[in-house]
Amino acid sequence: MDTLADFARTDSEYLDVLIVGAGLSGIGAAWHLQDTCPGRSYAIVEARESSGGTWDLFRYPGIRSDSDMYTLGYSFRPWKDAKAIADGPAILSYIREVASDHGIDARIRYGHRVVAARWSTPDARWTVEIEQGPEKRKTRVTCGFLWMCSGYYDYAAGYTPEFPGVERFKGRIVHPQKWTEDIDYKNKKVVVIGSGATAVTLVPAMAPEAAHVTMLQRSPTYVVARPAEDSIANRLRRRLPIGLAYGLTRWKNVLLGMYFYQLCKRRPDRAKAMILKGVRYFLGSDYDVEKHFTPRYNPWDQRLCLVPDADLFRAIRARQVSVVTDQIETFTETGIRLKSGSALEADLVVTATGLALQLLGGMTVEVDGKIINPADTLAYKGMMYSDVPNFAVVSGYTNASWTLKADLVCEYVCRLLNHMQKNGLRQCTPRLDDPDMERLPWVDFSSGYIQRAVDKFPKQGARRPWRLHQNYAMDLMSLRYGSLRDKAMVFSR
Ligand SMILES: Cc1cc2nc3c(=O)[nH]c(=O)nc-3n(C[C@H](O)[C@H](O)[C@H](O)COP(=O)(O)OP(=O)(O)OC[C@H]3O[C@@H](n4cnc5c(N)ncnc54)[C@H](O)[C@@H]3O)c2cc1C
Repeated sequence: MDTLADFARTDSEYLDVLIVGAGLSGIGAAWHLQDTCPGRSYAIVEARESSGGTWDLFRYPGIRSDSDMYTLGYSFRPWKDAKAIADGPAILSYIREVASDHGIDARIRYGHRVVAARWSTPDARWTVEIEQGPEKRKTRVTCGFLWMCSGYYDYAAGYTPEFPGVERFKGRIVHPQKWTEDIDYKNKKVVVIGSGATAVTLVPAMAPEAAHVTMLQRSPTYVVARPAEDSIANRLRRRLPIGLAYGLTRWKNVLLGMYFYQLCKRRPDRAKAMILKGVRYFLGSDYDVEKHFTPRYNPWDQRLCLVPDADLFRAIRARQVSVVTDQIETFTETGIRLKSGSALEADLVVTATGLALQLLGGMTVEVDGKIINPADTLAYKGMMYSDVPNFAVVSGYTNASWTLKADLVCEYVCRLLNHMQKNGLRQCTPRLDDPDMERLPWVDFSSGYIQRAVDKFPKQGARRPWRLHQNYAMDLMSLRYGSLRDKAMVFSR
């Protein structure tokens, strides 16, 4: 705290809404709030010194989306670039343009990390504890509604398993989340550990400059090639008003995505055959697709990886990249020894081994003096927690673009706020209306990063409104058009 006056100002400051996080979701939330609930006082508190979240944090070579920008973009802001699978900097500019064009950037308080939030029913407000700046000065804001847009992983560090012998290795080891510009891989032997979205992005991006890149994976992932540019979208954009072209392309991609997901779930053998046929087409019949690109699970039991313009496959064909499916026995001074007995020489090892999931930006939540353990709660419509009043969490889909869901959650929250204002209501709390409701894991996804953390997540119920739909059409009906009043949502003055 700087001065007593500062203390008094922050201590007594009240906002109608406090948004936590200035990433894709937080800036989208602010846009919806300004658009649908004009006149509400609000601020965005952001732990970092810059906006954009994920798209500012990650700086590794080739950083890009792995969904198309017509569905990863906001519903209200057409994506105008020719590339549908976009580079990280283009996505960051898009988010920041929305923030500056709508005056949202002026509402962001940088270097403000929320560490705790306490709800008081008598006051019908949250008191939010914030650590400000590198010296972590404590400040406080009170608000009527707390809107969490803090993403889903720990910004401090990614996930790296313990590998034996790392201390012996003479080269450099880096996690993609900690990539810095000084990392030199020109003419170097690079090993990328992992087979997820980050690995398949990094590997072809580093290949042209590196001496050689090896993608070392314990087990394969389904990899699908898709053109980086969407020719239908680009044609529509040339012929139709931009908003209409964007809307049509967005729906086209939503429907195609839903169709393919349903195909994977209902006819996994057929979907698997289609995906593997695509891989064989690019890699040729002499390549061991069975070993390196055929997972043990069915498509969409884990996230599929997308490679724009088949860049990974082309780098493999050009022999700039090799894929090794094996397990690490130990690091050595010069590289990695594998369980099969073979060895990989390396100057640089990139551990694309995933994110460390984190809920609610690491903050603690208390309701009327009782600490809330999210794992004990049930998620209401996949966006609020049982017995936690005036509180919403924006999160995206595991099987489709994040923003499809984020936009719907934002619309719902704004409807809720307007309903409460119109009816003089101060508190809305989802309460479990059926004590026999089955408690199911938050998501049914076998990916390692989900499985490592799923116990800490809220649970979902077996029925509406406690069931989490990984389905845009169902969420559209429930969040955009569904009634705000149901047996589970308790409003009070
Ligand atoms: C490399 C990478 C690629 C991805 N590609 C795709 C993709 O192609 N398609 C897709 O759908 N999804 C993708 N995702 C998921 C992606 O995170 C989301 O699409 C989206 O960017 C999430 O936005 P967000 O604003 O909710 O969270 P984030 O981008 O994580 O932003 C959260 C913000 O909240 C701030 N914050 C966190 N905790 C606190 C706190 N306690 N106090 C204050 N501020 C806090 C953070 O500093 C950050 O700025 C990708 C993720 C990664 C890591």
